[in-house]
Parts: sequence; structure tokens; C-alpha cells
Amino acid sequence: MKFPAIALAAAALLAGCTEITVPDQPPAQPGPATATPSRFDANTAARNFVTVVNRVEPVAERECRARLPRANCDFLIIVDDRRGQPANAYQTEDKNGRPVIAFTLALIADARNQDELAFILGHEAAHHIKEHIPRTRESATFGALVLGTLVGVGGGGDAAVEAATRVGAGIGARRFSKEFELEADAVGTIIAKRAGYDPVRGAQYFTRIPDPGDVFLGSHPPNASRIETVRRTAANM
Ligand SMILES: [Zn+2]
Repeated sequence: MKFPAIALAAAALLAGCTEITVPDQPPAQPGPATATPSRFDANTAARNFVTVVNRVEPVAERECRARLPRANCDFLIIVDDRRGQPANAYQTEDKNGRPVIAFTLALIADARNQDELAFILGHEAAHHIKEHIPRTRESATFGALVLGTLVGVGGGGDAAVEAATRVGAGIGARRFSKEFELEADAVGTIIAKRAGYDPVRGAQYFTRIPDPGDVFLGSHPPNASRIETVRRTAANM
């Protein structure tokens, strides 16, 4: 959809690293077309997300512990269920340093398959594993969020949901450099593939979004370099 300039600027300020703007009309599928559903119904989308979280989180945690033995690798994955948020995912930390990954409802609804969700989750986990927050001087927090929905690994329960709500206070989306985005794409590829997903197929979501070089005034790498990074990394595994 086309946003007026002001709305776009606001969206860019709030955006984490994988904002997706859904075009009005789906672009033609490149290459040999495999039939992909354009949208899932809400229940299927939610089930897909939970399945991906349960498969990818343990792999992300293992990668994290292998690379950062002393870090907090206990990822908390939550749904940013504020109304009207654009399709987006972001990584942050709670006040105790626990890594938090949030997906907006719009992103969960827009994903065309589990591979896309798996790649995005791997990408966000990779920002933590590569220590991008401490390495980002100009990281900023844009307001407090109230995030109420916990996506549990191994079941949540009321206490877990309360914990997720507490975590939500005071965290916000950050933006990273092009270099960090490509690093996260590479490590995210490894995580998604080790979790049994196809990261190259997952990265196809880049083909549906506007080139972020324009949207974010050059703060993100061009989509083509991101897709190429994923292809190269997956091929070398
Ligand atoms: Zn990112």
C-alpha cells in the first residue's frame, strides 16, 4: 500500500529490522511457480507461528550458547499485539538482559509459509547472538510497549504471560546498520536451516517488500544483497 510521506516516516521510526509493507497486489512469482497461498486464515497463521517458534527457538538457543557461553540465551518470543502495527519483527532485551524477540500480528498474518517465519526468527535471534545491541551506539528505544501475548516453548501458563507483559514495559524497536543486517541474515540462515527450514525460500519475503534502501534512507542493505547473502550462506552449509 502507498503511505503518505508522514505516515512512512513514522513507520520508519517505529520499525525494527524487518518491516514489511504489503503491496496492494501480489507481484508475479519469479521462476517456476509453485502454488503458494497468498494468505492464511488467522488460525492457520497462528498455528504456523507457534510451530516455527517451537522448532527454531531451541536451535537459536543452542547456537547462542555455542557462540556466547556466558550470555543469556533464553530467548523470550512474544507477539506485539498492539493494534495497527505494521508487519514487523524486532529483537531487544529486557532489563535483566534476557533476549526478547517480538513479531507483530501483521507479520504473522502476512507470512506466506513457515520458512519465512523461521528465517525472520533466526534473523532476530542472530542480532542477539552477534551482540548487535551492545555494538550499536546509536541504538534507541522508542517508547514503552505493552506486550501481552507470550508464545511459549513448552507451554506458558498465566505466570509466563504475566512475565511477558512485564517484559514488554520499556522496550522498543532498534535499528541496526547494513553490516549488522547482513550478519543477522547469514546467522539467521544457519539457524533456520538447522531447524529444518528452507532459508532461501524464507528470504523470498524480501521480494514482496519495497527495497528498504529507499524506505529507511539507506539504513538497510538492498534486498538483493540480503537474498544473495542467504543463498551463499545456505549453499556453504
Ligand atoms: Zn535485522
